Amino acid sequence: MIFRVIEKAELRSLFTMLSAANRVIGPVGVGLDRSGRQLYGFEEVHDFDRVALDYTMTSLSAKKYFLPYREIMATFTMDNKDWQKRIDYNIDAPFVFFGMHACDINALNRLDKVLMGSVYPMPYYAAKRKNAFIIGIGCEPQPNCFCRSMGTDTALHGFDMFITDIGDRYFIEIQSDTAFNFLKKIRTGEPVEADHLSFMKTGAGKNEKFAASVDTTDLTKILDMEFQSEVWKQWGDKCLGCGTCANVCPTCYCYSVEEEVSIDLTAAAKVKKLYSCNLIDFAVVAGGHNFRPERHSRLKYRYYHKHRGFVEAYEESLCVGCGRCGEACLADITVPEVIASVREGRKTDGQ
Ligand code: SF4
Ligand code: SF4
Repeated sequence: MIFRVIEKAELRSLFTMLSAANRVIGPVGVGLDRSGRQLYGFEEVHDFDRVALDYTMTSLSAKKYFLPYREIMATFTMDNKDWQKRIDYNIDAPFVFFGMHACDINALNRLDKVLMGSVYPMPYYAAKRKNAFIIGIGCEPQPNCFCRSMGTDTALHGFDMFITDIGDRYFIEIQSDTAFNFLKKIRTGEPVEADHLSFMKTGAGKNEKFAASVDTTDLTKILDMEFQSEVWKQWGDKCLGCGTCANVCPTCYCYSVEEEVSIDLTAAAKVKKLYSCNLIDFAVVAGGHNFRPERHSRLKYRYYHKHRGFVEAYEESLCVGCGRCGEACLADITVPEVIASVREGRKTDGQ
């Protein structure tokens, strides 16, 4: 890894240079919630002053730029009584992601394993992922964040450069040739010992600020042992089956494919739509049988996929501890509480 430091004002120069020739996505303020708290989202941004470098957490993850909620996979047109098929991998021009937190970078790294590294890679995802130039940025732990427990509070790969605020300057980790070459066009310096110390001090300070945590010790085995636990039923009674948790989650990638046919039967499209395993019809199969008709069985499935099955397949959890699902859940169901209750064999909120 190569390191550089830049004066804070130089970040504007970097943004200006990148945005002159590329689409730039970054964190911006998108309104206030009912209690007046600032909400953030990842949006296309043209003005550096709109970029919220100190954003807390975006309500929706960066997933929507890599796995759109609705994506046309192929279109069909009737031509002289024959169907003509056209496949579009939706390969956009390269784009820049300016300011992604470590948990979201790690979420993309998890998706890479399934959608690019498995037996059946998904070209629609790969096209976008390979076209993205990712600039990571350090963050402050929020009340619902437990990325430290999941080992995703720092990113080791999956980005081009990563920026950490070390007080009077930014410390930059460089991962790609492209990033190195871009940085040659602005004023940078070699970090000195004091910069290394500031960087390490910043990381240590961040670690002390985590309020939420998940004990992952032996978690896969505990989940195996607690598969029939009553705890799942109790959480299922609370769950609304709304699917919001999967919607906001940076690593939920399940989808359905639907055929849309024009009313005159001359055109059709195969459309991929992201879906949630918490929705009532997720496990309905041909013939109408539903393998998971109850909310608790669907909620349990989501936890077993993330914290049991994925760990067995890829040796790491599919949850990166971003805390978005707990933040968004109308029933106040959070990962730390659910996991703690499974460990203890009871719900932890006194019910
Ligand atoms: S856990 Fe919460 S967000 Fe997820 S489906 Fe249940 S009620 Fe909705
Ligand atoms: S399960 Fe919840 S905390 Fe874990 S990555 Fe998904 S949204 Fe974030």
